[in-house]
Amino acid sequence: MGRVRVGRAALTPVVVLGATGSIGTQTIEVADRHDLPVVAAAAGSVSDSLLAIARRYPDARLAVARAPEAPVEASISHRIAYGPDAVADLARIPGTTVVNGIVGASGLAASLAALEAGNRLGLANKESLLTGGPLIMGALRSGHGELIPVDSEHSAIWQCLIGEPADAVRRVILTASGGPFHAHPDVDLTHVSVDDALAHPTWDMGRRISIDSATLMNKAFEVIEAHFLFGLAYDQIDVVIHPKSFVHSFVEFTDGVVKAELGPPDMRKPIQHALTAPTRTAGIAQPFNLIGVDLTFSEPDRARFPALDLGYAAGLRGGNGPAVLNAADEIAVAAFLDRRIGFTEIVEVVSDALDVVPGGPIDTLEEALAADEAGRDAARRSVAARAAR
Ligand code: MG
Repeated sequence: MGRVRVGRAALTPVVVLGATGSIGTQTIEVADRHDLPVVAAAAGSVSDSLLAIARRYPDARLAVARAPEAPVEASISHRIAYGPDAVADLARIPGTTVVNGIVGASGLAASLAALEAGNRLGLANKESLLTGGPLIMGALRSGHGELIPVDSEHSAIWQCLIGEPADAVRRVILTASGGPFHAHPDVDLTHVSVDDALAHPTWDMGRRISIDSATLMNKAFEVIEAHFLFGLAYDQIDVVIHPKSFVHSFVEFTDGVVKAELGPPDMRKPIQHALTAPTRTAGIAQPFNLIGVDLTFSEPDRARFPALDLGYAAGLRGGNGPAVLNAADEIAVAAFLDRRIGFTEIVEVVSDALDVVPGGPIDTLEEALAADEAGRDAARRSVAARAAR
């Protein structure tokens, strides 16, 4: 505990990594609402949306992981640097808040760069904690950077912990929508289609996270992230199904008091918190009408959704377990979306990968990226064996 360190009063300029994705786009919207300058933006490739950002912020530095196929207009091309190191360089711009919405393990190096530079990191990149949790927490302990989670559940817990003693938490309770299949216990999950699995009930999200919500793997990831972020043991982290997603998570304290953060699902709120804490500013959120709000909770079905327990097991294994879990899931979800494996095989592939990749520590970035690659390789072999049947 004792990780809630929100000390900065003045709002800082913003660096947006993954600028053209869902988190990046909403970060720019929130920054604009608060007149915060966007001083740098990074994306995976040169796209029309990145060029639009470049025109809107004529002084912003740009970084792109992959070199463009077509020439870029001269007024912009001189501002673009290429390659993964160029993306991490933007995270080092001093005195900024770096919002990391990169999808994938390449986000880890950028998160480390932001923390090592003493910046505030608004973290939406899941791989930073799943692939490199010990590295991120080490960088936080040894440097002057700070981390504010940009995920509705962790932002809720974060905000519930503000002002609380470090040893006061009995447990946290993460809420999960349950995905599209929770409400349909009679549906045979071995035969559900890609379209059925993509139909998330409350959040409009990318394809991988929608599938991860349907399997509950996303919640398994969030359990592991909570372990790192809040210094909690795994038996202090519970999950409840809450289909309407109004309660974004709970904290239960040692005296039995329970706090929660509530509201309609809107990622711009955790983003705003990361950009403006500890101040509270008029922002983007609509007034929350409590009348008629459905606050029902139930136990997750751990037999039907084995990803949850697999995630706890990978977390308890420690070391490279979470990195392998995440990397194997990325491959398995892609194989499901390509219709090479069935829905229930996603978790089986991830379990196969955890079985075959030997345990090992995550003490360096190289070890983290090697664990990611090993998880991916093992999952590819499992998918190939299943697709050949
Ligand atoms: Mg979440």
